[in-house]
Amino acid sequence: MDCFEYRRGVLFAEDVDVHTIAETVGTPAYVYSKATFVNHLKKLQQAYKDLDTTICYSVKACGNVNILRVMAEHGSGFDIVSGGELFRAMKAGADPAKIVYAGVGKTDREITDALKAGIGYFNIESEQELENLIRLAKESGKTAKAALRVNPDVDPGTHKHITTGVKETKFGVDIERAMAVFKKYGKDPAVQLCAVHVHLGSGGKTIDPYCAAVQKILPVIEALRTRGHAIEMLDLGGGFGADYESDTVPSAADYAKGIVPLLKDKKLRLILEPGKSVCANAGVLLMRVLYRKTGGSKSFAIVDAGMNDLIRPALYEAFHFIWPCRVEGRFVPRGKQKNMTIEGGEVVDVVGPICEGSDFFAKDRAMPPVKRGDLLCIFTAGAYGFTMSSNYNARPMLPEVLVDGSQYKVIRRRQTYDDLITLEL
Ligand SMILES: *Cc1c(COP(=O)(O)O)cnc(C)c1O
Repeated sequence: MDCFEYRRGVLFAEDVDVHTIAETVGTPAYVYSKATFVNHLKKLQQAYKDLDTTICYSVKACGNVNILRVMAEHGSGFDIVSGGELFRAMKAGADPAKIVYAGVGKTDREITDALKAGIGYFNIESEQELENLIRLAKESGKTAKAALRVNPDVDPGTHKHITTGVKETKFGVDIERAMAVFKKYGKDPAVQLCAVHVHLGSGGKTIDPYCAAVQKILPVIEALRTRGHAIEMLDLGGGFGADYESDTVPSAADYAKGIVPLLKDKKLRLILEPGKSVCANAGVLLMRVLYRKTGGSKSFAIVDAGMNDLIRPALYEAFHFIWPCRVEGRFVPRGKQKNMTIEGGEVVDVVGPICEGSDFFAKDRAMPPVKRGDLLCIFTAGAYGFTMSSNYNARPMLPEVLVDGSQYKVIRRRQTYDDLITLEL
């Protein structure tokens, strides 16, 4: 579901014509729909309500403090992967007990800050990290809870850079090792090792890898309990699919249908760490066509956004549906389709202004005819869009706009040229 739709051929974000936003804040710009964020969170909360579930929204997917505040107000916790994300979550009014902290390289300062904040669980990725957490907890007179990140050796079958749940990755420990870690550290008075964390990585398009992971982990939890370890929580991580193309991935309810029955009566709290399934369709990137040109057999639309603003196509070969924001009736899209042939349209490469072959958003894409000055929309840009953006080519970072019904608010202003050098002494 999302709240971006064409009304009489004009793209609206909730009840706001996106042209109004483009004219007031300029382009390129990220535009988010508050209702979409809240709707996706509520669907998750509803789908897993038969278990004791906490949704911990993954800050790294889309972490503007105003968005985190909306999520916190609607009962979300947070999955963080750095001290900076802890800072953002706390500024947004997060309940620290609902924060889980993952990451293979937590520094002493990051751990100490999280201990002081009193977060819910440290998701532990190695024995040395656990030893360090125990040491720092003792030094600061704090106690903490920890979940051991276990690698179920399940491959969700996605891009190699976003697969994290197989044995040969840097994340977590394998199942065999997990038993030994609990045996060695499971009774520590400062750090209560009382939970298991699994994160398969991103992009699985079926529920099967999740069910397979739960089925592999439950016997481990049973074995740990038999050995006297009180396991209270299972964190199933994130990576749930988002609809980059319409209707191609399971819904929250579909995933829950597979997962909930497996965990019923297992006396486990459940934590989920959804990122892109919550925010991908809650954001779009607006941009204008700067120039049209042809090169050989190719036809190009050069736009004012670049790979520094949205790197997913360059980094992951990710598909994003792109369409003009104002179209004739016959060109109003019915959903986000990958391979469309459209009568009266053309086939273009949509590319940015950066001197890099990888600076593209779409190749050989069928689209209605577009001309210089037209406003285009990259859909499903809410996840790993702004958060992965950079100042490459000394391009100021984009503004973020949050739409709420017929209102909209700039929740991060566009960087200025002065902003580019303010930290340079
Ligand atoms: C990135 C990440 C997530 C969120 O992943 P999505 O694919 O955006 O759902 C959840 N948990 C951990 C540990 C992560 O690193």
